[in-house]
Amino acid sequence: MANIILLGPPGAGKGTQAERLVAGRGMVQLSTGDMLREAKSSGTEMGRKVAEVMERGALVTDEIVIGLIEEKLEKGAPGGFIFDGFPRTLKQADALADLLSRKGLNLDAVIELVVDDTALVGRIVKRADEARAKGQPVRKDDTPEVFEIRLREYYKNTAPLIGYYWAKKSLRQIDGMAEMGAVSAAVAKVLDNS
Ligand code: AMP
Repeated sequence: MANIILLGPPGAGKGTQAERLVAGRGMVQLSTGDMLREAKSSGTEMGRKVAEVMERGALVTDEIVIGLIEEKLEKGAPGGFIFDGFPRTLKQADALADLLSRKGLNLDAVIELVVDDTALVGRIVKRADEARAKGQPVRKDDTPEVFEIRLREYYKNTAPLIGYYWAKKSLRQIDGMAEMGAVSAAVAKVLDNS
């Protein structure tokens, strides 16, 4: 049982790797992006507020996402939690450390998917095209314009977490540009050694 964070910019492949871990190891994926999209479609007051922020590519407040994570942690995960798209700020990282320690849980590894920024826009455009082809809803923030804002948010607010977790000796960097199976193998190796 391991609790891990998948870290990396939008389009790095965090969601894909998380899905594989859920299927292969029975882990529980906690994607704040998915939770916020759910809140958005539920038509609640909170949903309406976050929808506008997400469509601009900005970050939702720390209080909201920390609250969402806290709720999900209550349910427990015998196979371990995968934090996907959370934490995204230092404040969220501190809150997560606090929540985990209160539950007596460890953070076993922070896996950074290291990618080449210039390839990311292409991946996002491809994700939108694939969704369209399958008749699935296309994320409003998967456009080159909003993507650029999301990438800036990543460098400004989230990239500092690389240093934060490195200092805690939790950081494991893997090549996110490798072929999908090779990335999964590298993720598996980190999990098996932690
Ligand atoms: P994602 O699906 O992870 O790409 O997230 C989509 C959008 O949801 C982001 O661009 C943010 O607007 C919002 N979001 C997701 N996770 C967080 C988070 N941990 N903190 C703040 N905003 C978030």
